[in-house]
Amino acid sequence: MINNEAQAESYDVQQNAVEFAGSTWKHTNSQWEGDRYVLVYFNIDFSQHDRWRGLHGPDHRTEEARAAPLLTRPVCTPIHTASIECVELRQQLLNHIHQVEFLNRPQLKYQNQKSEIILFGECTQPYHVKERHPCKGNDLYPALHALLKQYVDYIMQKPVSHTYSSILLAKNSKCNWHLDKQNVGSSVITALGDYTGGELLVNHMKSYPLFECLACHMKYLPLRSCRLEKNHTTPDWIPQVWEMVKSGKIVLDANTTTRKILKRVQKK
Ligand SMILES: [Zn+2]
Repeated sequence: MINNEAQAESYDVQQNAVEFAGSTWKHTNSQWEGDRYVLVYFNIDFSQHDRWRGLHGPDHRTEEARAAPLLTRPVCTPIHTASIECVELRQQLLNHIHQVEFLNRPQLKYQNQKSEIILFGECTQPYHVKERHPCKGNDLYPALHALLKQYVDYIMQKPVSHTYSSILLAKNSKCNWHLDKQNVGSSVITALGDYTGGELLVNHMKSYPLFECLACHMKYLPLRSCRLEKNHTTPDWIPQVWEMVKSGKIVLDANTTTRKILKRVQKK
């Protein structure tokens, strides 16, 4: 098995905004003392594709995020934590965060049952067709939502808040090594609060593909046989098919599997 502990690099998310591919790099955090508030800006997969029918009900912004060039390693942007602007922004954020009633939701990746989280932006609803729904936090804490967006634009030194569908605010969330499989593209993670320790540990050396390659997808072979048994390293099928859709090479049709459409095109 992969020794994540040995391969991981550690990132100080209190002093940096760290961009990383949480859906394909295993990550966790180290222990800390004090109250640690993590902010994650990320994109949720809102597309309705599935292994059997193919790329159906693609969500354009999701596919654009998936098609963006992948990071090869985490990227740190140092935060000017001593600047007046930063001190004030962080203080405002903490003032608002202290008013939040966190939703306790059991999540497998968070071993500690006391993990407290709240979401802003857009999310999916369990037991519903995948589509964009406003998160609870938007209406409950609109001023905090606005501040969270302002803060990421500040720490990234460019307007990036609109490029993420969702924001996770987590209080003292301890997690095991995990992947954020419902995410696409890269995320920004940072943290604030009066705490010590709590670095982000990322193993970017071993990247986990989320989907099988196009050749295997055409043969109904699952991810496991593609990547583990056949050791295929070619790109995931979804971005490849999306590229063909965008260039007009294929036209999706709700009643036909993507495989059938692709086979028709190949015959011509
Ligand atoms: Zn394959």
